[in-house]
Amino acid sequence: MEKRLILKRPFTERKGKTKFCAPCGSLATQEALFEVEGGVTLIERYCDICVKKVK
Ligand SMILES: [Zn+2]
Repeated sequence: MEKRLILKRPFTERKGKTKFCAPCGSLATQEALFEVEGGVTLIERYCDICVKKVK
């Protein structure tokens, strides 16, 4: 599925729910918003290291 990066932003934990980096499983500190088919927005979380590889 094709996805297009919209933006990256710092991620802060909400309601005490800890999120983990999608590729490596470390604690997530960043999130990236993507637009996928049909104008749907997809959010994925990353750590500081993996977010740099996101494009
Ligand atoms: Zn990571």
